[in-house]
Amino acid sequence: MILVCAAPILLRLLDALRELLPLQLFYFLLERLTQWRMMFIWDYAVILACLAGGLLLIYIAQRTVFSAARLRLIRLRKTQCLACGEKLRATDQGWCEVCGANQAAPCRQCGQPHRLLAFHCSHCGTSASL
Ligand SMILES: [Zn+2]
Ligand SMILES: [Zn+2]
Repeated sequence: MILVCAAPILLRLLDALRELLPLQLFYFLLERLTQWRMMFIWDYAVILACLAGGLLLIYIAQRTVFSAARLRLIRLRKTQCLACGEKLRATDQGWCEVCGANQAAPCRQCGQPHRLLAFHCSHCGTSASL
């Protein structure tokens, strides 16, 4: 009598276990899959971080070079010292009164003094290198 009553309960329990087992297996697989995926994502993240770092370095280098050229042009236009940026009294001033940096050099073509910041000699137009 007790066995007869217990039989359907046992069957139900077995059914429940059968339902639970693939679910656990599924969860286990899902967990493994997420772990693998996480590893893949981690690998990609490392590669992307390296790329981003390289690009950032190139960007900073370009910005620095770019800003140096810009600074030269700005200081040339504003008649400023090439080293410290102090305003010069005249465009033909030889030395900075604040930091003592040399501002002029003789042109290699005509020998006339021109500003070191100048891209070209103002007397003959020869290109000047800083
Ligand atoms: Zn100066
Ligand atoms: Zn010249």
